[in-house]
Amino acid sequence: MQCPYCGKEMELGLVQSPHEIAWLKGDTKHAFAIAAAHKDAIVLSPLNIKNMITGCAVRAFLCRSCKKVIIDYSDES
Ligand SMILES: [Zn+2]
Repeated sequence: MQCPYCGKEMELGLVQSPHEIAWLKGDTKHAFAIAAAHKDAIVLSPLNIKNMITGCAVRAFLCRSCKKVIIDYSDES
């Protein structure tokens, strides 16, 4: 994938966590951060039986020049 900011090739990697990974609307941290508790939340990697062992992860592309990380959640479940 090419960086939409500078056009350089981006590096594929993972954003990983032992907890659910979700996008939550707004820029304030939430005390209760699971997606089910928030309207408009997007689950990027659910905490399920499989992920309890391996951890939650979502594919992400990195541009070191622009310091941007892009997550395409269209193929995540
Ligand atoms: Zn870039």
